[in-house]
Amino acid sequence: MKKKLFVAIIFVAVSVIGLFFYRQPVKIATPPIFSSSKIATSSLRVIFFDVGQGDSALIITPQDKTILVDGGPDDKVLTKLGKYLPLSQKKIDYMILTHPHADHLDGLVSVLKRYDVGVVYYSGVAHTTYSFLEWLKLIKEKNITMKTIDKPQVLELDSGIKLDFLYPNKDLSGIEIKGQEESKFAKINNLNNVSIIFKLIYGRTKFLFTGDAETPVEEELLKDKADLRADVLKVAHHGSHSSTNDKFLKAVQPQMAVISSGLGNDFGHPHLRTLRRLERNSVKIFRTDTDGDVEMASDGEAIK
Ligand SMILES: [Zn+2]
Repeated sequence: MKKKLFVAIIFVAVSVIGLFFYRQPVKIATPPIFSSSKIATSSLRVIFFDVGQGDSALIITPQDKTILVDGGPDDKVLTKLGKYLPLSQKKIDYMILTHPHADHLDGLVSVLKRYDVGVVYYSGVAHTTYSFLEWLKLIKEKNITMKTIDKPQVLELDSGIKLDFLYPNKDLSGIEIKGQEESKFAKINNLNNVSIIFKLIYGRTKFLFTGDAETPVEEELLKDKADLRADVLKVAHHGSHSSTNDKFLKAVQPQMAVISSGLGNDFGHPHLRTLRRLERNSVKIFRTDTDGDVEMASDGEAIK
């Protein structure tokens, strides 16, 4: 009798211990899955594409909204979008054309053919090139909403994430740039100086996008006391010495700068003088010509 009781006790004990060990892995597995997905969904990603001599950058918000800023000089942008977006994704929520020079515009024509674009932002300034007319035609055919930046304004993306448009600070729409020809905006004789300038803000972190704007625009923004302060500066005009002057840099106070230019380009971009100015201001420089694509992530507190 005692032997049977002993066997029964052992049986119960083994079952209880077995149950305990069986349940244990389930409990352990839960927390890491939860926390890692939380990290992934709270990051804002900004990728400055290496598209050769030109500009193109993709912003992906924590809630997967996409903003494409310029498209570089050709189809390379399609390969880049394929690399950083899920294969099934055919939607770009916002397309921003900073200004209609070919090294910013031409890739956007290919993007319009391949992707569904939600809203297009531009400065309203027309150009006479085939690419620009093709770009306009596709936008019209696809019935895409077009918005003109004709004054400082803010676009809310996700909660806590916004685009703060600083320039053009006036209505430039309908202006066609033809060399040095006089117009009612006599100062604007250079397409670079109709570039859209905006700040991407997420929590405490800020990225300043400058297109190809040159020193006259920088001085105008300084005179207007625009809030230029940013952690990352997308250096204007591929690092040309005609942009990024000292006073402007002092107002932005960036920790990091990204220069988008093509290896061995004919313009000598980035210029040594600009590189020196950035170094003097203790700015860490990233270059698409030597570093390839430059990817940054922000959690709203810091940028990696
Ligand atoms: Zn350019």
